[in-house]
Amino acid sequence: MRCVVCKQAETVAGATTVTLQRGESTLVVKDVPAQVCPNCGEDYVDSEVAAELMRSSENLARAGTQVDVRRYPVAA
Ligand SMILES: [Zn+2]
Repeated sequence: MRCVVCKQAETVAGATTVTLQRGESTLVVKDVPAQVCPNCGEDYVDSEVAAELMRSSENLARAGTQVDVRRYPVAA
């Protein structure tokens, strides 16, 4: 797809790092599959993947974890 931020390039399949904040908890997930713009670097994470990461961050917040760094896929 065409990048909606810079409108200069087509995105390519790649991976990105996603940071989620949930209350006091911060979850960092590496190697998340995403479409990445080769021009400006904007990344587009699939909505299903984003929802999955959101659930993981909620579990983390419930467990009282302050900071966690994981690699995708994250076990819920
Ligand atoms: Zn772009």
